[in-house]
Parts: sequence; structure tokens; C-alpha cells
Amino acid sequence: MRPFLLLDVDGPLNPREPSAEFVRHEIVEGDRSWTVHLNPSHGAELRDLVTTFDLVWASSWEQGANRLLAPLLGLPQLPTIEWPDRTPIPTSSWKTPYVAAWVGERPFVWLDDGVDERDIAYFARPCQLVHRVDSQTGLTPGDFAVVRAWQRENLLR
Ligand SMILES: [Mg+2]
Repeated sequence: MRPFLLLDVDGPLNPREPSAEFVRHEIVEGDRSWTVHLNPSHGAELRDLVTTFDLVWASSWEQGANRLLAPLLGLPQLPTIEWPDRTPIPTSSWKTPYVAAWVGERPFVWLDDGVDERDIAYFARPCQLVHRVDSQTGLTPGDFAVVRAWQRENLLR
């Protein structure tokens, strides 16, 4: 079973305090506009991980991530988890029940800044990793090292 790599956008890929490596993009669609900061090295890292993982958007951008962001990161169109109801639940991130339904028994790594110990505990299987990313910096080499370590532990045995 190929694992999923579940990607949040705001925080991990579009951080609050982007370093000089990030490129500022002004996105306009109809009468809406957004400013995002994306790191070209993230696109390169993620394209490399496609050999092992099925990448999936797990972001409140939903299909907008494919339309507006994937081309900027050099990523193909990806499957996208949709969130019919964002009501917070007491035990975890509002995304967690939807992520659980999406992944089923498949192994995965989920990169998100909005998760905590409760979300991590929600997925008891060791091959299902919820990894919290710092929303200030976005994904760092250390986060990608966590993904690579998981890959070695779970896939290369
Ligand atoms: Mg986020």
C-alpha cells in the first residue's frame, strides 16, 4: 500500500514569517485575491517524495490548492480532502475525522501546523504519523527529515 503524504498549506507551505527563501505571490481569481509566500525548495522536496507517497491536499484551500498553488510549486493536480463542516470538535483538530475517513487503513504522514497531541493520539497505528509543523517558519529541513525517517522505518524494511 502506497502511503499518503497529507499537506496542509497555511502554516507548512505558506508560513506566517517566511524567510528570504520564500517567493511572494499575489494571486487573483475573479474579485478575490490572496498573498502567499511559497518556497521553491518545498516544491522540489515534494516532487521527489512523489516516488514514494501519494500526495494529497489536506488544506482549507481545498480545490483552490490545485487551481492556484500547485502550478506555483511545480506540483501536479492532487487529490483533495474536502471539509463539509469545520465545527471544532473537543478532542482534536476539525480536520481529524475527515482525515481519518480519507486514509482508512493506509499508512500516511500528515504535515499540519494545527494539530496537537490529541490529533496524534487519534491515530493509534504506528504507520500513521501526524507531524506538527511550526506555522511561523513553515516546513524546515528538520520536518523533511522526519518524513524521510518515517519512509525508512516503514517502507524500506
Ligand atoms: Mg494550517
